[in-house]
Amino acid sequence: MLKPFYPQLVYFEPGALEYPLGRELMAKFKESDVEIRKTTSHNQVRNLPGENDFQKYRVAKSTLVVGVRKTLKFDTSKPSAEYAIPLATGCMGHCHYCYLQTTMGSKPYIRTYVNTEEIFDAAAQYMKERAPEITRFEAACTSDIVGIDHLTHSLKQAIEYMGQTDYGRLRFVTKFSHVDHLLDANHNYKTRFRFSINADYVIKYFEPGTSRLDDRLEAARKVAEADYPLGFIVAPIYLHEGWKEGYYTMFEKLHEQIPQRLRKDLTFEFIQHRFTKPAKKVIQKNYPMTKLELEENKRKWKWGRYGIGKYVYTTEEQEDIKNTLTEYLNTFFPEAAFEYFV
Ligand code: SF4
Repeated sequence: MLKPFYPQLVYFEPGALEYPLGRELMAKFKESDVEIRKTTSHNQVRNLPGENDFQKYRVAKSTLVVGVRKTLKFDTSKPSAEYAIPLATGCMGHCHYCYLQTTMGSKPYIRTYVNTEEIFDAAAQYMKERAPEITRFEAACTSDIVGIDHLTHSLKQAIEYMGQTDYGRLRFVTKFSHVDHLLDANHNYKTRFRFSINADYVIKYFEPGTSRLDDRLEAARKVAEADYPLGFIVAPIYLHEGWKEGYYTMFEKLHEQIPQRLRKDLTFEFIQHRFTKPAKKVIQKNYPMTKLELEENKRKWKWGRYGIGKYVYTTEEQEDIKNTLTEYLNTFFPEAAFEYFV
């Protein structure tokens, strides 16, 4: 079983110590033998140990920067929510296809923000603007927040904060099974706890540094037992030899692990694998031995956000994916809500 994340190196921005969570984290890390460095800003996080970019990238992925979120303007987060709530950025996982490799560029370290009250106040403003419409906030747009929350508990705070609001909903997705501290959070049914799941082949070859499927499913069961609305995101759906059997087995395992009584409020989202040209370059640099298929001429080109085109599966392949997976979904989980396929 994958051990919960613990950083090799921790940086503190000076402003972080003005907040209770910053001081709490400082006290916690001082008790351990982790190296603590001070920095004036996360942009100053230089001189990470490592002889080359490859090694530095790996050290950065186990470096935690404790800081203050200055920009309190939230990004939009379609199609799963209205806004992205910024609690952390970066991730300790090593998924070869991860889009954070391009969005985080040369700064792949993990940042956690300690000014949670200010972040929640900003969220309250967004809710107020839309009320009485519900406003959904996605907490895992720029990190796998569950993967670090056993250290910070800022996600737990956000769950409890949203639980008290009339018009707020929280959602996030994870590939980590370290959920125990979140089970007693007072969520008030306003947080949808989602797990990213995949066929064994994809997890085995492309998702190192994350919890294995059986552990994710065990965690999902605990989350459902704790009465959270539950969701599964099958992503990225990746065509490989035997993919139909692979995804069938995944659904079968899911069916065994989540009994009928825990299916009251269950959602599914399907997301096909895609890549951009800049992403391809970064993936090949960070994971030079990857088996990930990134052939532009086998894919269909599609306009993406910010004008950067992305490569998705061909129209026929997309149809095949959608038909196959929705058939499995209807077989094993006819009561679940299917949200979208993109
Ligand atoms: S767990 Fe998610 S955020 Fe982390 S590396 Fe994998 S895909 Fe990226």
